[in-house]
Amino acid sequence: MMTTEEILQIDKEHIWHPYASATNPLPVYPVKEAKGVKLILNDGRGLIDGMSSWWAAVHGYNHPALNQAALEQLKRMSHVMFGGLTHEPAAKLTQQLLQMLPPSLSKIFFCDSGSVSVEVAMKMAVQYWYACGKPGKYKFVTIRSGYHGDTWNAMSVCDPVTGMHTLFENNLPRQIFIPSPSVHFGEEWSDEAIVPLQNILEKHHNEIAALILEPVVQGAGGMRFYSPEYLVHAKALCKMYDVLLIHDEIATGFGRTGKLFAYEYSDTVPDIMCIGKALTGGYMTMAATICNLRVAEGICSASPGVFMHGPTFMGNPLACSIASASLSLLHQNNWQQQVSFITKHLSKNLSAAREIKGVTDVRVLGAIGVIEMEKPVNMERLQPMFVEEGIWLRPFGRLIYTMPPFIITPEELSFLTDKMIRVVSHYAKTL
Ligand SMILES: *Cc1c(COP(=O)(O)O)cnc(C)c1O
Repeated sequence: MMTTEEILQIDKEHIWHPYASATNPLPVYPVKEAKGVKLILNDGRGLIDGMSSWWAAVHGYNHPALNQAALEQLKRMSHVMFGGLTHEPAAKLTQQLLQMLPPSLSKIFFCDSGSVSVEVAMKMAVQYWYACGKPGKYKFVTIRSGYHGDTWNAMSVCDPVTGMHTLFENNLPRQIFIPSPSVHFGEEWSDEAIVPLQNILEKHHNEIAALILEPVVQGAGGMRFYSPEYLVHAKALCKMYDVLLIHDEIATGFGRTGKLFAYEYSDTVPDIMCIGKALTGGYMTMAATICNLRVAEGICSASPGVFMHGPTFMGNPLACSIASASLSLLHQNNWQQQVSFITKHLSKNLSAAREIKGVTDVRVLGAIGVIEMEKPVNMERLQPMFVEEGIWLRPFGRLIYTMPPFIITPEELSFLTDKMIRVVSHYAKTL
């Protein structure tokens, strides 16, 4: 066994972390194990997890049913190539997903991660128009404050400011950006909000393959909640100007926003949809891109007659089996009840943050709670404060937010929100 010092030493000298420096990294906390909603650090401290490991671990950690699914599949096979082969775990997962998705979304492409599923969606859109004899339709229009992943094309549709486009400007495909929807969730709709999209589509629809956006909740690009009515108008415009609609539900999918998928707030079914993150209950990396028959038939109707993508670990049986078990748990555990309890609790218990100096907004939707600060937070100071109080949160920019595992108990959630308020108040006093 390695000592904690050895682990930290190797990590510090050789291992990159997300959005981190390799030469002067901030401290990281070694985790020994995790169970339920708790992360257990090497020194024995238990932290209540407010992040679900970035939207993914909806059933908490070390869940007996998910462990069982993994073990059983492991005994049969952990992986086989998907070219020319198939298996029950993929078929079963597909059957379950089809029951949860709108009927028109019927063709599933399994892939490795959320970013890859966005790449696949964008490739599908471009290959679709190519097959339709319109190769000039290859650009994407998107709304600002979005986040779609870190690979090239996914990055090209992330918010240009928070996504640091200037760094990669010379190589990055240039997409078309319109303002983020100006009508927030719960506010009265105003037709003004759709004018920017209308104008762009009117002018550029001949070059545009698809509109890509996160429905209702924009996650890592700013944790904004916007009016579902926007989607109704956006979809109508896409139809009118013959532009495909791609929904990135990687963060919003599987109940997080209070609906199984966020598009359900407006009943606007896209042509292509990306899912990931909570798909495997946070156990393994896996995502999927799902499209309708129009897109699938279009792509396959013209030479080369196939879709040009196929990752090595496509349809990984281990990930499929765990995802199946996770989807079953979602229903068994009655996710609606779990999420609506979290919504009520967060709305009530985070509202105190409105009184804290430096806080500009507090908002809650589904099992997501956000405290927005006036200025970017000092992560180096804030992170240890949360850990000292026994909770795990990972703020970014001006946002201190939580999206806890759905299985969190009332006591654990009270602990989490009490400590969250306490730390933010302390922090605000030092500003
Ligand atoms: C996290 C995320 C992605 C990227 O997924 P990865 O698995 O990290 O590649 C894409 N889109 C949205 C909306 C996300 O939240």
